Amino acid sequence: MAKAKTVDAIFFAAHADDIELACGGTIAKMVGEGRRAGIVDLTRGEMGTRGTPETRKRESKAAAAMLGATFREQLDFGDGGMRAGRDEEMEIIEIVRRWRPQVVFAPWPDERHPDHSRSGRLVTEASFYAGLGKIETKLPAHRPQVVAYYLQNYLPPLSFVIDVSETWDVKTKAIHCYKSQFFDRKSKEPRTFIAEEKFLEMIEARGKHFGALIGARYGEAYVTKQPPRIDDVFGAYRDREV
Ligand SMILES: [Zn+2]
Repeated sequence: MAKAKTVDAIFFAAHADDIELACGGTIAKMVGEGRRAGIVDLTRGEMGTRGTPETRKRESKAAAAMLGATFREQLDFGDGGMRAGRDEEMEIIEIVRRWRPQVVFAPWPDERHPDHSRSGRLVTEASFYAGLGKIETKLPAHRPQVVAYYLQNYLPPLSFVIDVSETWDVKTKAIHCYKSQFFDRKSKEPRTFIAEEKFLEMIEARGKHFGALIGARYGEAYVTKQPPRIDDVFGAYRDREV
């Protein structure tokens, strides 16, 4: 009965659109396989050069619907100088306990943008604390199996790559829901790094590169602090050239 309210995975990000760029194909793939995934943006994106928090919220809802997410929640930890203290940690603990995900996704905790790093650390630590019964909230304790880190600017050694060839189109459509943020020839908004045409070309190239590492057309790569357990070593490497 309680099962209907849980999700298999929660994807945490500092800013709306971070998730689509790094994990959109993974979410669409999970949902296509009958899994449930939620998205939590830790800030309202109020420091963004283009668009407003309202436009970004509208865009992010459309993107979540495109990917088939079960829910998308936006918190208000402060964009640019994100707060990551005990109050914020307790909010994450509540979310983890409410949705009881098996896997939590977060930014690599040593990223270029400090909001990303802080999100990575905060979500890692809160996911652990969520499993401590003596930290009392209204909901029972729950600890996800693992926190998997997605990649933004830096490239630590990869732990696994998910084949997202079948869902790359959906990911691209979800990214294009953020009309205020990304390249649009007609836009009169100020130029930014991510609104340059070459930014989306980089996302495409990275997807192809990660895909090539596993013999797939497109891939999304992740890092975990412990290695994944592989039950089928033959299947895990089946399409690679030797
Ligand atoms: Zn971001």
